[in-house]
Amino acid sequence: MIKNQLEEVRKHIEDACRRAGRNPEEVTLIAVSKTKPVPMLMEAYDAGARDFGENKVQEILNKKPELPEDIRWHMIGHLQRNKVHQVIDKAVLIHSVDSLRLAQQIEADAAKLGLDVDILLEVNVAREESKYGFLMEEVEDAIMRIKDFPHVHIKGLMTIAPFVDNPEENRGIFKKLFEFAVDIGGKNIDNVTMSVLSMGMTGDYEVAIEEGATMVRVGTGIFGSR
Ligand SMILES: *Cc1c(COP(=O)(O)O)cnc(C)c1O
Repeated sequence: MIKNQLEEVRKHIEDACRRAGRNPEEVTLIAVSKTKPVPMLMEAYDAGARDFGENKVQEILNKKPELPEDIRWHMIGHLQRNKVHQVIDKAVLIHSVDSLRLAQQIEADAAKLGLDVDILLEVNVAREESKYGFLMEEVEDAIMRIKDFPHVHIKGLMTIAPFVDNPEENRGIFKKLFEFAVDIGGKNIDNVTMSVLSMGMTGDYEVAIEEGATMVRVGTGIFGSR
C-alpha cells in the first residue's frame, strides 16, 4: 500500500535526520510519480504527500489538471528548450537545469510570461558519460552568468548519483556536492542561494540526508517498481 510505503520512507527520513543531528523539517520528500497513474498519486496525496516529481513535461501537463491544486510539481528530468514555456508556470522548481542554453531559454520564456522561475543546477558529480548536468568545474562559471538573469533564481544544486549496490558508495558524492554548495553559498552572490540540495533517491536517500540533502526524490520506495 502506498500509504504504508510513504510512512516507511518518512520514518527512514526521520531516523537519518536523527543520526545526523538534523531537524526532519529541513528535508522535503518529493514523491517521484513518473509513469504512475493519477489514482496512485491521489493515494499518496491522501496520505499527505504534496510534493510530486515528474521527469517529463507531458506527464505534468496530463496529471496536474486531474489532481488537487495544492500539489507542488517538481520538474526533475532533462528538459528540452522547446518545452520550457509549457512547464515554467506549472512547476514550483526545475531541478534539472543542465546547460547555460537551457537557463537562457527559461529566462526568455519567463520574461515573456512575466514569471519568476526557481531553478537548481544539475551537477554530474560522478562525471558519468551517460548523465546530463554540469561538471563540477563548470558550475561556478554558469552561476556567475545566470545570476544576472532577472527572471531566473538559482536556489541550489541537484545531483543524480550513480546506481550502486551499496549506498555508502555514494556518500563521497553527496559530501562533495554539500561542501561545494557551502563554498558557493559563502560567496553571497546576488540572486543566488544554496538553500536547496536535491540529492538522494530510493537506494541512497538516507545517506544523502546524512550528508546534507534538503530534498530527496523517492519513486520506487513509495510507488513500487516501474
Ligand atoms: C526516477 C527518478 C528518481 C526516483 O528514482 P527511484 O530510484 O525510483 O527512487 C529520482 N530522481 C530522478 C531525476 C529520477 O528521474
